[in-house]
Amino acid sequence: MFVIAIANQKGGVGKTTTAINIATAMAATGWRTLLIDLDPQGNASTGLGVRAESRRVSSYDLLVDEVPLASAIVPTSIPRLDLIPATVDLSGAEIELVAVEGRTHRLDKALANHAGHDICFIDCPPSLGLLTLNALCAADTLLVPLQCEFFALEGLSQLLQTVDQIQQRFNPDLGIIGVALTMYDRRNRLTDQVSDDVRDCLGKLVFETVIPRNVRLSEAPSHGLPALIYDQHCTGSRAYMALARELIGRFPAERQAA
Ligand code: ADP
Ligand code: MG
Repeated sequence: MFVIAIANQKGGVGKTTTAINIATAMAATGWRTLLIDLDPQGNASTGLGVRAESRRVSSYDLLVDEVPLASAIVPTSIPRLDLIPATVDLSGAEIELVAVEGRTHRLDKALANHAGHDICFIDCPPSLGLLTLNALCAADTLLVPLQCEFFALEGLSQLLQTVDQIQQRFNPDLGIIGVALTMYDRRNRLTDQVSDDVRDCLGKLVFETVIPRNVRLSEAPSHGLPALIYDQHCTGSRAYMALARELIGRFPAERQAA
């Protein structure tokens, strides 16, 4: 299973929207896809229609109580897309894990040898704490959603430093598969300027595909559906399909097919 963490320590940059819709796009293309909700807010779980009361076993149990992976997986309404939901108690895991042995590798250990899915996305919380650290230690690679706003690059350099440290200390093979520009607003001059700066600075690391600001993307979660199901023809859905294609194109050769 190829594992992609979706991380950026800033909140509200489109991590969860990207996680839900990229995962849906991959599932629609035939990949057996697992999405792990690692944010105590549980937005990815809600956005996929998995309500709080039906989250019996969660990513908290996986990390803190080391329950078997299979017991935490729930199906979604989308064929080939499964979820490990998050519950609010996950916010406590940040502290509960501090004292345990192998605290950075709990998720990595839980995912080891799992053969039931081809690809896994991890939706990270907006911090660089132990939850995100667990995601980055479990991941083969990292996808960074970046909102085109003034401080975007500043936050990014902090994230890249963290990745560097993780490569040195824990996970030497951790790659960065790409940076996705989100909430792109072509009428806003600042957006263009920031996106030019980001491309100058990061070059090919930035995906060609940009995700436009699109109201359908923000409406869909309240219906418990990915935008790709709620309105597959809206500009946001089409952008996420294109991003998924571009993403697959960047997979290592042996991972190109589901
Ligand atoms: P994060 O997970 O990084 O906190 P979210 O994906 O939850 O970010 O996005 C933050 C808010 O912005 C949410 O309300 C979401 O619906 C909205 N949003 C995300 N991407 C877009 C977009 N491309 N167009 C319009 N709204 C968006
Ligand atoms: Mg989120």
